[in-house]
Amino acid sequence: TLIALEGGEGAGKSTQARLLAIWLREQGYDVVATHEPGATKVGMRLRAILLDRNHVGLSPRAEALLYCADRAEHVESVIRPALERGAVVVTDRYIDSMVAYQGAGRQLPEDEIVWLNRWATDNLLPDLTIVLDLPPSEGSARRGAPADRLEAESEDFHERVRSGFQARARSEPDRYFVVDASEPAEAVSRAIQDEVRRILPD
Ligand code: C5P
Repeated sequence: TLIALEGGEGAGKSTQARLLAIWLREQGYDVVATHEPGATKVGMRLRAILLDRNHVGLSPRAEALLYCADRAEHVESVIRPALERGAVVVTDRYIDSMVAYQGAGRQLPEDEIVWLNRWATDNLLPDLTIVLDLPPSEGSARRGAPADRLEAESEDFHERVRSGFQARARSEPDRYFVVDASEPAEAVSRAIQDEVRRILPD
């Protein structure tokens, strides 16, 4: 089972990914908690390139391909092996981050982003994608001063990213769960657990 956590800056993805992994382990599942970009050796180098503030103005297509390279390596060396041995994989970001950031944010055509990701992942889609929804102004207040190239993007960019996630979720309500990330972390985490319970194997 593959579960992806998605959302904009400061929405609490990593906290919720951690809480979800802990809860799943308590339920007795073999859990692999992972993240993008940068969960593999090569991925860490790609992440450094992608987040480097000296690379402001990186071409959107180059950016998209670097994220795809990171994801391809992640799927091949971490996610698929874990799924094959029957683990539940929780990933902090996956394909929908690309649709939101490089699609809605950088305004590359969504169908091309989807196609590119199908190829990069050899068609591995999540069983459930959880979208932590938060107004960008709240997210940046939580995060404080922008630390990387993307956090330094305009509020407008981050508004487009948020709408991008929302549109994805609306397009396939069965595979997405949108949660109000302005709620306290425990409430968000309980809502996520209720939804995850629904899709897990016994
Ligand atoms: O979630 P995390 O903070 O580790 O993500 C790293 C950065 O990569 C974030 O600033 C996020 O905005 C950016 N990102 C992106 N496009 C993606 C995935 C992440 O711009 N497809």
